[in-house]
Amino acid sequence: MNAWLRCAANPQIISVPRSPEALVSPREIVRSGLCIGCGACAAGEPRATMRWDRYGQLKPDGPAHWYRRRDPAFSAICPFAPAAIDEDAIAAERFGAAPGSDALIGRFEQAYVGHVAEEAFRADGSSGGMVNWVASELLRTGRIDAVAHVAPVADPQRDGRFFAYRLSRSLDELRRGAKSRYYPIELSEVLRAIRSAPGRYAVVGVPCFIKAVHLLRKHDPILRERITHTLGLFCGHMKSARFVESFAWQLGTEIERVQAVEYRIKDAGRPANWYRAHLTLAGGETRAEDWWHLVDGDWGAGSFQNSACNMCDDVVAETADIALGDAWVEPYSSDGRGTNVVIVRSPELLQMVEAAVSAGRLALEAVGADFIIQTQAAGLRHRREGLAYRLTWRRRGVTPRKRVAPSAAGLPLRRRLVYRTRAAVSRWSHRMFALARMLAAPGLYVGWARAALAVYQGLTYSRGKLGGWIDRLERGRASDDGSR
Ligand SMILES: Cc1cc2nc3c(=O)[nH]c(=O)nc-3n(C[C@H](O)[C@H](O)[C@H](O)COP(=O)(O)OP(=O)(O)OC[C@H]3O[C@@H](n4cnc5c(N)ncnc54)[C@H](O)[C@@H]3O)c2cc1C
Ligand code: SF4
Ligand code: SF4
Repeated sequence: MNAWLRCAANPQIISVPRSPEALVSPREIVRSGLCIGCGACAAGEPRATMRWDRYGQLKPDGPAHWYRRRDPAFSAICPFAPAAIDEDAIAAERFGAAPGSDALIGRFEQAYVGHVAEEAFRADGSSGGMVNWVASELLRTGRIDAVAHVAPVADPQRDGRFFAYRLSRSLDELRRGAKSRYYPIELSEVLRAIRSAPGRYAVVGVPCFIKAVHLLRKHDPILRERITHTLGLFCGHMKSARFVESFAWQLGTEIERVQAVEYRIKDAGRPANWYRAHLTLAGGETRAEDWWHLVDGDWGAGSFQNSACNMCDDVVAETADIALGDAWVEPYSSDGRGTNVVIVRSPELLQMVEAAVSAGRLALEAVGADFIIQTQAAGLRHRREGLAYRLTWRRRGVTPRKRVAPSAAGLPLRRRLVYRTRAAVSRWSHRMFALARMLAAPGLYVGWARAALAVYQGLTYSRGKLGGWIDRLERGRASDDGSR
């Protein structure tokens, strides 16, 4: 195992008293760059809504007295509020009896690698089709009445968005919502719908959204009773809506002509990790390009990342009943058909999954925590070593409470520069895109993003002339140090 992974296995847990100073308002969370736009707060205030900001991210908006008040209820349910209980506490309450426990992947019953073997789940899904299979199986067996998940909207140009949470009550509706959407979405509307219609519901979401759901369930008996299952997606970071606009610019069209977006179209003949974006335009014309040929297609560079993700410490949905991601290790990452890694945390879902494995409906193989960790090595490193370093930076506003202690100790200069560059790319991508949009000058953004990518890739992978130059500089420094 990597050295940083071994250190991260013993993170220093920080505990902060729940004092009145820890109370915060929605406005403070937004202004501190800590709002992920989950909509949990807006769901509880009838006059509040989630609105697009100028960077294509969703933020809460509502009456001034609600938006500005330092409120105990808000401070307990916002996933980034320092007074809210953390993932460890939620998981201890929910999965206290689980046989497995790991500092990086949380508490669990069993972990697996594999894919769905029946019907078209695998072909229809972004990875091995397991997320939609679990949701469908819960629905088919009558364990739930509906699933809150993310699907394309019927008319994106009218709605002003491409994707939204919706409640699916049939297997066919669910199937039409398969695939990953790296796009801002929010929970307030579906949470209101769940509150108003009795039934049992499952919610699919990225880790911070699932945390928000559990924080809400703790304080709202109706949601506690009705949201019976949570399905977590592993998460690298959340993109803004401008990522799709940038696809359109780089594929020679305008966002106004785009009717449908696929972030990852599948091709069984190509490695699964060669993501290919696909746009369907008005009139049925299509455009497609590999992420690697786009100036913002290197996931690690962090373009259009929500700033709250810089302060996130949960990669693998530690509070969800089941958590699912991609198996980013060989031979699976070369298999274009897609392969999931799965962490089952609840005994009920373990039984459901094991029965399906025995019946040959799922092709899953049991794996240990170390295997899951290797598949998410980059994300975990960014959220442990990287987070510890980012927590040492000066920041304004609310100080988040994390499960990782601030530390830059032992971090080589080049690694620090990688984290600094990633943070700068994500911050400036929003601004440069906004400027290029205002001036109707796509080239301004594309030119900047190409230069930023060259710096990031030079530093990170020694790519290009800049990479060679940085390598020589680093070797020079090392031999100077050695001769002293
Ligand atoms: C923002 C984001 C970042 C991710 N980062 C990582 C990562 O770093 N590492 C990793 O291994 N995996 C990551 N994933 C998960 C990965 O992309 C796949 O979603 C996962 O492997 C499940 O694939 P599947 O074939 O089983 O899902 P499918 O069977 O295709 O089903 C996907 C289900 O998830 C729902 N859904 C799609 N997007 C969202 C969303 N944004 N919020 C809530 N529900 C949604 C769909 O409606 C559908 O029900 C990320 C996903 C998202 C949305
Ligand atoms: S993170 Fe969620 S709960 Fe917190 S302010 Fe933003 S939208 Fe509201
Ligand atoms: S990286 Fe963390 S904060 Fe960002 S969307 Fe994913 S789970 Fe939420």
